[in-house]
Amino acid sequence: MAPDDEAEDSRWRRIKAVFVDMVGELSKSGPPTQGPLERVLERLLIEACAKEQTTVDEFVAALESDEPLRDELQAEVSRLLSDPALSAARKESQRRELERHLMLLRFLLGGAEPPEWVWEPIDEEERTKIRNARQTSPEDPSVLTRIENALKKAAERPEAFGSCEACKEPIAPARLELIPFAERCAKCQKAAETKPEERPTVPVRRF
Ligand SMILES: [Zn+2]
Repeated sequence: MAPDDEAEDSRWRRIKAVFVDMVGELSKSGPPTQGPLERVLERLLIEACAKEQTTVDEFVAALESDEPLRDELQAEVSRLLSDPALSAARKESQRRELERHLMLLRFLLGGAEPPEWVWEPIDEEERTKIRNARQTSPEDPSVLTRIENALKKAAERPEAFGSCEACKEPIAPARLELIPFAERCAKCQKAAETKPEERPTVPVRRF
């Protein structure tokens, strides 16, 4: 390895080490009370990269070409994130995001533009996704009821929010992103839809 390559190599390793330390500090000092944990991690990574006068994009590009370093980073960070306090905070922040998404859909389906304070913490990419989700939603009046039910569940039984009504297992995040008001996991939903007596009268899109 050329000396320049070696210098580069240790630079990425230093960023990794600094970032892992910061995440470790997070689990010691207690999880953030504001905002999703993912955003906090993003900020820490920006900070770690800035210390080495580089950007997250450059670091990510370096990780793409250095599989061992990428694997180490992933393993170390996920070990730290499995800390009970942090994983509880993470779950809580996911729940809050989901709740906000539901509120937005409720506004949009009701034909009203959500007020700025509802949009505010959501970035442009996410806003477009939500607007598109609104457009692809069927003209199905039961969707609004399902949204209301999901919000009610979030308020009354936060611990059950995001879990399948049938098997009680957590619903896959990708499914919740598409259908934040999903009552059941994909497997149980499919099972319910094949039982004729439980078939909904209004066609429900199946994901
Ligand atoms: Zn299920």
